Amino acid sequence: MTQKASTSCYAAELQQISGIGPKLLVLFKKMGVETIEDALYHLPLRYEDRRQMRKISRLQADRSEIFLARVLAAGEQQTSHRRKQIYEVIVGDDTAQISLKWFHYRKSWLQKRYPVGQLLLVIGEVRSFGHTREIHHPETELIAAGQNLTQFFQQDPLKFGRILPVYPLTEGLTQHRMRKIWYQLVPQYCPTLPSCLPTELLEKRKLLPLEQALLNSHWPPAETSLAELDAGKDPYRRSIVYDEFFYLELGLALKRRGVALTQGFAFTVEHRYTKPLAQMLPFRLTPAQRRVLGEIKQDMMAPMPMHRLLQGDVGSGKTIVALMAALVAIENGTQVAVVAPTEILAEQHYQNFRFWLEKLQLRCELLRSNTPTKEKKNTLADLQTGAIHLLVGTHAILQQGVHFKRLGLGIIDEQHRFGVKQRGVLKQKGANPDMLVMTATPIPRTLSMTLYGDLSLSVIDQMPPGRTPVTTHHFSATQRNQAYQSLQAQLNEGHQAYVVYPLVEETENSDLLAATEACEDLKHHFPRARIGLLHGRLKPVEKDQIMQNFRTQQLDILVATTVIEVGIDVPNATIMLIEHAERFGLAQLHQLRGRVGRGGGESFCFLISTEQFTEDARRRLAVMVETNDGFRIAEADLEIRGPGEFLGTRQAGLPNFRVASLVRDTGILERAREDAFAYAEETNYLNSPESVDLKNELYRRWSGRLDLATIG
Ligand code: ADP
Ligand code: MG
Repeated sequence: MTQKASTSCYAAELQQISGIGPKLLVLFKKMGVETIEDALYHLPLRYEDRRQMRKISRLQADRSEIFLARVLAAGEQQTSHRRKQIYEVIVGDDTAQISLKWFHYRKSWLQKRYPVGQLLLVIGEVRSFGHTREIHHPETELIAAGQNLTQFFQQDPLKFGRILPVYPLTEGLTQHRMRKIWYQLVPQYCPTLPSCLPTELLEKRKLLPLEQALLNSHWPPAETSLAELDAGKDPYRRSIVYDEFFYLELGLALKRRGVALTQGFAFTVEHRYTKPLAQMLPFRLTPAQRRVLGEIKQDMMAPMPMHRLLQGDVGSGKTIVALMAALVAIENGTQVAVVAPTEILAEQHYQNFRFWLEKLQLRCELLRSNTPTKEKKNTLADLQTGAIHLLVGTHAILQQGVHFKRLGLGIIDEQHRFGVKQRGVLKQKGANPDMLVMTATPIPRTLSMTLYGDLSLSVIDQMPPGRTPVTTHHFSATQRNQAYQSLQAQLNEGHQAYVVYPLVEETENSDLLAATEACEDLKHHFPRARIGLLHGRLKPVEKDQIMQNFRTQQLDILVATTVIEVGIDVPNATIMLIEHAERFGLAQLHQLRGRVGRGGGESFCFLISTEQFTEDARRRLAVMVETNDGFRIAEADLEIRGPGEFLGTRQAGLPNFRVASLVRDTGILERAREDAFAYAEETNYLNSPESVDLKNELYRRWSGRLDLATIG
């Protein structure tokens, strides 16, 4: 069953429900409710407790209450300050009195409805003002003399005697109308839901089957704890969240298994190139690098394709680990692709990889979107014959027409800039090549479990030796001269400097102008320094030339827009000035700062802000001054920005949940993951007879979202 087919069949059914005409369908659609399934997941925002009537003396402020009372007095009043008319009805029981107030009304109607002596059932939110309590615009039911109250109370389940849902609405819909429709729809259709989670698991976790959980979530049974409902901690919501997470994690378990089941390369570690490289390197690998490389080699030697995420803070030395892995693949007669998100980073990797590969008599080439046609043709031809061992490039590598002879390893740098799709495209360029994705962004555990749940994780948690943490200061624009003095001091010692300007969009002229002007300004301040300007609108050859000049120390100061953000490595650069630092995000500031502090000498970062900035900006700058720890910074970033914007995760392919929240429900996520992975293993990856339904439902939910197609 495909997602599409089931969606349309659910949609048809929503129209068939009696009482739902075309007008209602339009309103529902506005709320995102198009199918029966959508409707069942359209859960209450909150609840009103109408289980019991209370005595007036026991009414609680700020709650919706329900009570029986008699009209004691009624009439129009004038408010003291704004001279507005209001209508007030004083009601009471044998314990106390309370005032009902209307601010908009038709007098004759109220007079007629609330004569003195009338018995009423009153429903509404109680407000407390000092000693007086009142209810504004209450809902009321008239009780006739001699009426059997208990019976009355039970006669309308949409009004009394229970906990009532309060639904999110859209204009044109009333709460009562919603309740009426949902009261019919939910019990009727909940049982038709394919709820397939194993009973043992639900029992173990004290959870309900999905259909029961949804039903109760809409119409909570009388014994439900209102406090739990209010806090979203009731067993019904927890069960729904678990259900969502379980399917997600089960899918990830299968994906990982699917990868494990496919036949990939089983490399052997020959040491033909890796050993000479290790001997040539000017440093020894750190223990963390060695551990991580060991994990990667294990994967590469195994017959299933590697699917590994390599995480390490800016400057932790991921590149050399990637190079070692590349050499293992090349030793086994296969080719390697290295994909980077920007031209400059690709160029940098190319320089780096070629430097070492040439020493080993291996061939490394660069491919990017504007490589001249003739050169490109040659490169592609040599790639196809296998003459090229390692190809570095941007997205250009992912295009059609790029064919490897035998791609053994794909490396993607700065993974969070690419989507899951691109990972897939690169994989398709070979026959189940090993994949190594690298990221400098520490991702909180719960996020990474859903984002990269199908990848194994290696972490470089240690910096190469001799790194001094970068000393960071925050200056206002008027204090810029202090920063300039430090900059001059570094130049005097033969070091180089970055001066960074924000460029919101590469097309924005004004920012470019600012950077160009600032460049002139700097020339004034540092008349003997050689200054270069790097920005996004230069041609690639121009950019390369400038970077090359900076790398070879023909430039002292590099003025740049954020194009240098990712991966640039010039150890002799020891100081960075960031102008308009208040405009940058935390992750970006951290990445930028990571460009200095690479040479072992003391390094500095000066954050220069204009006079006015927001409270959030102030917090960001304070965090930067306070710590160099990438993980601390990521946590602060998550705190300041909230999970939705952190990392732009939506773009990175984070699934949408109907009910579950990755921030609120982390505990449930961990349990669901544990259970789903264990269940997958027990059922031979859903190939046992009892898991047929679950498997179908899994495919229905995952289809169109992430690619499960490779799994048999
Ligand atoms: P990142 O993890 O940010 O990609 P790089 O791989 O660019 O970091 O490494 C940063 C710098 O550290 C490079 O100049 C690299 O040569 C150097 N480096 C890497 N590993 C070590 C090590 N074990 N000892 C000393 N320097 C190292
Ligand atoms: Mg890097």
